Amino acid sequence: ARRVVLASRPQGAPTLENFRFEEVELSDAQQGEVTLRVLYLSLDPYMRGRMSDAKSYAAPTPVGGVMEGETVCEVIRSRHPDFAPGDKVRARTGWCTDAVVKADIVHHFDTHGAPITTAVGVLGMPGFTAYSGMKVIGQPKDGETVVVAAASGPVGSMVGQIAKLAGARAVGIAGGKKKCDFVREELGFDAVVDHRSKDFASDLEAACPKGIDVYFENVGGHVWDAVLPLLNQFARVPVCGLVAQYNGPGAADHDRLPATMSAILRRSLRIRGFIQSEFVKDHYGAFEKEIGPLVASGRIRYKEDVVDGLERAPDAFIGMLTGKNFGKLLVRMADI
Ligand code: NDP
Repeated sequence: ARRVVLASRPQGAPTLENFRFEEVELSDAQQGEVTLRVLYLSLDPYMRGRMSDAKSYAAPTPVGGVMEGETVCEVIRSRHPDFAPGDKVRARTGWCTDAVVKADIVHHFDTHGAPITTAVGVLGMPGFTAYSGMKVIGQPKDGETVVVAAASGPVGSMVGQIAKLAGARAVGIAGGKKKCDFVREELGFDAVVDHRSKDFASDLEAACPKGIDVYFENVGGHVWDAVLPLLNQFARVPVCGLVAQYNGPGAADHDRLPATMSAILRRSLRIRGFIQSEFVKDHYGAFEKEIGPLVASGRIRYKEDVVDGLERAPDAFIGMLTGKNFGKLLVRMADI
C-alpha cells in the first residue's frame, strides 16, 4: 500500500516537503479487523491543524505519522460480522491507498441513492457541520439575512441552502467570478459578493440592506472586518472555521479584538464556536433523515472537485487553503 506521512511541521503555508510518500506491506486482517481499498480520500481544512503541534481540540499528527483523513472505501476482506467484501464504507484510514483497520473506525452509510462521494461531503462531516451549526447556533428565521463565506465549498453551500429552506435570505461570499456565478445560479443564493474585489466591503453592505442576522464564520480575516459593522442587534455568529488564518498571520492582519468586543457588547451579539463532533449525538440522526432525501432528489445542490491519484493529494490540499479548490475536494485513487 502507498501512503502519505507528515515529514515535517509547516511554518506558515504547507509545502510539498512537509509530506512524504511511503510504500508499506499490509498485514493480514486479524479478528475484529477489515481490509479496505480506498476509493476516495476527503481533503479538509482541519488537516492543517493536525499538521501543527499547537494545542487544539484534537491531538496533532506525529511527525512520521500517516496524514489523517476520512475515506470512502470498499471492503476487501472482513473479520468482523458487520462487514462483508464488496461493502462500501466510510472510514478514518488516513491518506493511503489500502489499509487494515479495526472495525470500530469503519461505518456503513446511506446516501439515499446519491453518489458514494457524498458520504464524506454534503451527506457527511462537512454537510453535518453546516446543519448542526445552523440548527443549534445560527437558528435562521423567516425574512432574516444569513451570510456565509467559502460559499461554494461543502460547508458554505449547505449553510446557504439551509438558510433558504428556513425562509431566510442567503448571501454568499466567494473568491472570483466563477465561484460567485455558481453560488448564485446553481446553488440559488439570493446574492453573492466576491471577497477578492477591491470594493468587497461596500459590495457586501449593498447585498445586505437590512444588515446581517446570522453570520456563519468559515474564514475570519478581512471577511470578518467587512461583516462586523453589518451585524444586527442579537445577531448570531456560529464560529465554524478560520481558514484565512490557519497558515498564520497575513501581512495585512491587525488586532481585531477591540472592535469585535465592542460590537459584541453594544449589539448583544451571540458568538459561539463549535466543533461538529459535539453535536453528533443529538443531531446526526435528524441530519441524515432530513438532508439525505433533499440531496438525493436534487433539491439541495453541491459541487465536487475531484483530483486523480494519491500523488496529487499534498498539492491539492495546499491549494485548498488559498481557495484553489472549487467544491468539495476529493482524491480519487488511481485505479478505480
Ligand atoms: P472549502 O472547500 O470551502 O475550502 C476552503 C475555502 O476557504 C476555499 O476554497 C476558499 O474559498 C476559502 N478561503 C481560503 N482562504 C481564504 C481567505 N483568506 N479569505 C476568504 N476565504 C478564503 O472548505 P470546507 O467547506 O470544507 O470548510 C469551510 C470551513 O469550515 C473551514 O474553515 C473549515 O475549517 C471549517 N470546518 C469546521 C468544522 C467544525 O467542526 N467546526 C468541520 C468542518 C469544516 P473562496 O475561494 O471562495 O474564498
